[in-house]
Amino acid sequence: MSLPIVETVESAAETTPAPASAPSADRRPVLSATADEWRRWMVDRGHPAYRARQVLDWVVRRRAVPFDAMTDLPRALRRELDEEWTVFGTTVAYHDVAPDGTDKLVIECRDGRRIECVLMAEGPRRTVCISTQVGCAMRCVFCASGLKGVERNLDSAEIVEEVLHLRNLLPPEETVTHIVVMGMGESLANLDNLAAALDRICSPAEGLGISQRRVTISTVGLPEKICKLAAMDRQYHLAVSLHAPTEELRNELVPVNEAIGLTAVLEAADVYFERTGRQVTYEYVLLSGINDRPEDSRALARLLADRHAHVNLIPYNPVAGLPYGRPEPEAIDRFVATLRQRGISVTVRKTKGRAIDAACGQLRRRLQPETERTPR
Ligand code: SF4
Repeated sequence: MSLPIVETVESAAETTPAPASAPSADRRPVLSATADEWRRWMVDRGHPAYRARQVLDWVVRRRAVPFDAMTDLPRALRRELDEEWTVFGTTVAYHDVAPDGTDKLVIECRDGRRIECVLMAEGPRRTVCISTQVGCAMRCVFCASGLKGVERNLDSAEIVEEVLHLRNLLPPEETVTHIVVMGMGESLANLDNLAAALDRICSPAEGLGISQRRVTISTVGLPEKICKLAAMDRQYHLAVSLHAPTEELRNELVPVNEAIGLTAVLEAADVYFERTGRQVTYEYVLLSGINDRPEDSRALARLLADRHAHVNLIPYNPVAGLPYGRPEPEAIDRFVATLRQRGISVTVRKTKGRAIDAACGQLRRRLQPETERTPR
């Protein structure tokens, strides 16, 4: 889903290639193996099983990148590791910093495909926004990520590595506190790999110990997958990207809605709330003159009137080549007032990182040759 974009930033940040040490294609990334697989690998080679824990600890918590920096492992083991494994399977291809301090990374996977992720700091919060797919099949008409369709799902190690690459940008005394799964891709179309990645990241024993309640999963609304996620009994916060209050308008803006329908999306979100007790957020990208009209705000209020729901309005971050604009502040205020008058809880999302194209797919798209950028 669309990335949290950013507040008024005037000057453009520079895009600089990051120093990248390419991982070898014939060595496995450390995080492609589970803790059990690592223990077996150690024991099979005559090492104590606890060495597995040490290696994972170095990568996940202690920020070691070459095996040689894992100083409490015997030198011979470090050499053995280097022959078979690579610490990360992905590399940082570009690193941008916006004037407001938001970091955006373009990550290159082993097959050369690229994804984006973002680190935002606000007060004590260090929030990362991560991708789950290369591209996206949902083709929301206002989104850069969906312009070329989906290329593939990320595997769970690639998803975890996004978080770690971003965490490694922070000073040693800081770490990631919140995760939003709102980057490129439809999160729930890759639910199994996402769930495995989040289990690892949230684990206090093997991961960063981030509370499940500080993770937000955004979806365009795949009812079966929402119900499957609800049945997993996790405490993730669900954000449904609604973007329109009627079938007709949603079919236009979110074409996948034609096959699903608003009612099924809302019913699945209700199931999620009943099962987890967690209030569902409805994301609504405000497009000038398209879905920000008084009749739209009234219809949205009617739709959510009896639901334990929160609305997050996202003033659109324009994408070059797409014919959509950001509403004037007065239109946004009117929309908010109408919802509040009807008792709907609503916030307007602050947009961070705008100067570095921090809306899903924008930076990756800018870095592609001109010929590949023509919208369909
Ligand atoms: S096309 Fe995909 S990434 Fe873009 S807004 Fe829609 S669901 Fe999100």
